[in-house]
Amino acid sequence: MAERLALYPGSFDPITHGHVDILRRATRLFDRIAVLVAAEGKARFWPAERRAQLWREIIRAEDALASCEVEVYAGLLVDAVAGHQAVAVIRGLRSARDFEQEWSLHGVNRKLRPDFETVWLPAREDLAVISSSLVREAARFGGDLTALVPEPVAAALAAWPPR
Ligand code: ADP
Repeated sequence: MAERLALYPGSFDPITHGHVDILRRATRLFDRIAVLVAAEGKARFWPAERRAQLWREIIRAEDALASCEVEVYAGLLVDAVAGHQAVAVIRGLRSARDFEQEWSLHGVNRKLRPDFETVWLPAREDLAVISSSLVREAARFGGDLTALVPEPVAAALAAWPPR
């Protein structure tokens, strides 16, 4: 059977424990995962290449993530799906609010590409409260962020405080 590759797109600005948990769980469902770090969109805290570099560091450190690769991506998600011949896009769901946004995103992508599929994974209960925006807020005050983000991200935040 052909290898089943899924895309995991996001801003990951910065990567949190919630993001990594979704990726870990997705590796059990698909043969390969391409993490797509969004270059465009919302105002960014870190440049895309920095966010991608941190993902690579996290992936290298964990055998369970060996089937994952990382790239910076600009453009339409449906074009990335076509380019990678991906069978699905993975997104995490923390709340009904996430779901509303995700539902629209899925619907629009489906209009652009009728065979577009999203696989939604529910956030792990204890990680569902974590968001990149709250991490950015906490980072401003120089707190210990290890309960929220993986170690390389905590170190990078400590070494590179926000503007
Ligand atoms: P985007 O800007 O594309 O929403 P994010 O980096 O905010 O990118 O999120 C990427 C994906 O990870 C989204 O599907 C989001 O719902 C999910 N996600 C974010 N935080 C968590 C969390 N704590 N637990 C599980 N999934 C999460």
